[in-house]
Amino acid sequence: MSFTKKLTDAVSAIGDLFFPPVCACCGTHLFKGEVEICKMCLRLLPRTHFEKKPHDNQISIMMWGRCKIELAYALYYYKKGERVQQLLYEIKYRGNRRLGEVLGQELGKIITQSENNGFDCIIPIPLHPRKKAMRGYNQAELIANGIATFMGMQVEVSSVIRNIHTLSQTRKGRFERWQNVENIFRVTDPDQLRNRHILLVDDVITTGSTMEACVNQLSTVPGTKISVASIACARL
Ligand SMILES: [Zn+2]
Repeated sequence: MSFTKKLTDAVSAIGDLFFPPVCACCGTHLFKGEVEICKMCLRLLPRTHFEKKPHDNQISIMMWGRCKIELAYALYYYKKGERVQQLLYEIKYRGNRRLGEVLGQELGKIITQSENNGFDCIIPIPLHPRKKAMRGYNQAELIANGIATFMGMQVEVSSVIRNIHTLSQTRKGRFERWQNVENIFRVTDPDQLRNRHILLVDDVITTGSTMEACVNQLSTVPGTKISVASIACARL
């Protein structure tokens, strides 16, 4: 073990002594081996189990007639005021990058348990560069990194970009949301994506408008197959 590594570990151990790490979900102290979220929360959060029917679940039904997707996955159901919303907030607005990667790994775990998970690449839904610069990171990329780590794959971030800085979606109706996201994505390197099965990743799927817009852009590349995955999906 190098001196720097020993020093980093020692500093981290001292930090843990004064500020013991707590679960981002329930606030209890974490045990050894737990990272950002405790095992109990991982077990008790409302799982969708979409991986048991990746061709036929709430997300695939929601997307029928809007865009063509092969498989759809989400770890948890999301509802305002519940703990999953709190976790998404931690990742997106409170800079908890590690939590994004940890939940991405959990997502990777359930995807590998399902059938037909032979993806060629993993693509996070891109943020507009200005928004990414303001936040310092793209939360979807953290999650994609977690999935990729678990599945031993690479994340592809340069072949599709977001070219319009959209206004906040939260106060818009469904049609307005759709208008707001149509054509916001652009494929910059079609050759990189041709004939590939892409796993497209976002933090949450609510109306599906953002995912739909990105899937439709990626579908313009000949031979692509697209599947989608998110940490959470709105409970109907
Ligand atoms: Zn917990």
